Amino acid sequence: MPTPISPAIAAPKPRAPAPSTSSPIAAPTAPVAGQPTPVTRLEGDRYADAEVIEREGHVDNGQPGLYRQARLVRVTGEKYPLIVARDEVEVSPDGKSKLIKQQAMVADHVMLKLKPGVTDAALLAAIQKLGGTVRKKMPASRIWLIAFPKPTLSTVTTALRELAALPDVTDIVEPDYIVHANATEPSDTAFTSLWGLHNTGQNGGKADADIDAPEAWDYTTGSRSVLVGVIDTGIDHTHPDLAANMWINPNEIAANGLDDDNNGYVDDVRGWDFANNDNNPMDDHLHGTHCAGTIGGVGNNGKGVVGVCWQVSLVGLKFLSSSGSGTISDATEAVAYGTQIGVDMTSNSWGGGGYSLLLKSTIDAAGTANILFIAAAGNESSNSDSEVSYPSGYDSASIIAVAATTRSDVLSYFSNYGAATVDLAAPGSEIYSTAPSGGYATLSGTSMATPHVTGACALLLAHNPTLSPTAVKTALLSSVDPLPALKGLCVSGGRLNAARALQRSSELAVEPIGDFTFSMPSRIGCMNLA
Ligand code: CA
Ligand code: CA
Ligand code: CA
Repeated sequence: MPTPISPAIAAPKPRAPAPSTSSPIAAPTAPVAGQPTPVTRLEGDRYADAEVIEREGHVDNGQPGLYRQARLVRVTGEKYPLIVARDEVEVSPDGKSKLIKQQAMVADHVMLKLKPGVTDAALLAAIQKLGGTVRKKMPASRIWLIAFPKPTLSTVTTALRELAALPDVTDIVEPDYIVHANATEPSDTAFTSLWGLHNTGQNGGKADADIDAPEAWDYTTGSRSVLVGVIDTGIDHTHPDLAANMWINPNEIAANGLDDDNNGYVDDVRGWDFANNDNNPMDDHLHGTHCAGTIGGVGNNGKGVVGVCWQVSLVGLKFLSSSGSGTISDATEAVAYGTQIGVDMTSNSWGGGGYSLLLKSTIDAAGTANILFIAAAGNESSNSDSEVSYPSGYDSASIIAVAATTRSDVLSYFSNYGAATVDLAAPGSEIYSTAPSGGYATLSGTSMATPHVTGACALLLAHNPTLSPTAVKTALLSSVDPLPALKGLCVSGGRLNAARALQRSSELAVEPIGDFTFSMPSRIGCMNLA
């Protein structure tokens, strides 16, 4: 049931002394200290319909126009239904309120990484004293989920403090943030053309506002030997435009009830569903199948769409649920799993939550294993340099952060940007691609831009398998089509051009390292040539 609606969240303090008595407008009521103020139904509140168990709210002392609230809610149907949502609400002098930030985390567990050498028994003894239990031990990332029954708004905060105070046991302890797929709602209109790959000016677009895919395909159309992990809502592996490009785990025997490759996952022949903990990462949403089709929709098969790669190996690493949301713990495990099975890159069209050292260090470990992490810049229309969006905004050399452009070669209205934290843009508005059950759909988001870049990275590796991730990233960023609309909004100042990236990567592959003079501001400057 929706929560009751109240006319105002919080009253701003009057700017001036008492208003004229002739004014017929009643002053908004200030919130009573210590008393939670009921919220207005706010646009963008993911938990507007959730059952509220506990609520706390107050006007920010330093910023009278800012109201902060925390809610402990129950979201039926989610993997971990008890969630704490923390909101920042801007209240304008006329009493109107706007949700400007929402961060959510699992309410009744935290993520923990043990100090090396600490035994499971030592951990159990330590957490028992605090009233905690083990909810899960994740085999690839070695993250433990420590659960606390009957949570309140402060359970996670208390658990973090108490577990951090066990330095002999705890290496890292963090909240388990909720993250989301970075697509907007499906569009009603089906634009039955892949303008991002090849734009002739169809549907009112700008000719050549595209990634020059046909020109790229003169170099290569991709290779099945390039393995791409799609960390998302899963992939419909039966889709006629995807089936031939799906990866099969060569080291796992199907359906024998055994973990043949000894990676902690039984019968994981198609990857894994971390959201539902099963071996079938089938898409029960739309988002993951759509992203997969942009990366590697089977080419030249006389049906449907074509991906940036006609041939590639795709593995569904499903961690987002049928609602499109998931947890940092499952995301981290998916990245670690991908590293174990030897992906060349992961495509990450999701984001949210706060900084997680556990996730960042797992991405960095993947980077050390030569695995690129291509990530959506996020859909908040904000400057990621000041309001960092994770995971795209982590300062990690292996991350390529992707903004979205339209068929007219301007930044999509929803796209985040950042001169230091976003690397390049790619087509992301009104993207047509595969949908579950053999269908097709048009979606918009930095989610849709990201797989264009992932596909280009896969083409580069298909064309030159010895390229280091650094060389791939360098080739991509130094070959963009510079766009006036992107100047100062991302590191490269341009939109992906796959054909030029292939040309540039061939040059990088033959250039001696010593002759490497290409320089980029900020993020790329901290990379080492591998
Ligand atoms: Ca296995
Ligand atoms: Ca097996
Ligand atoms: Ca499943």
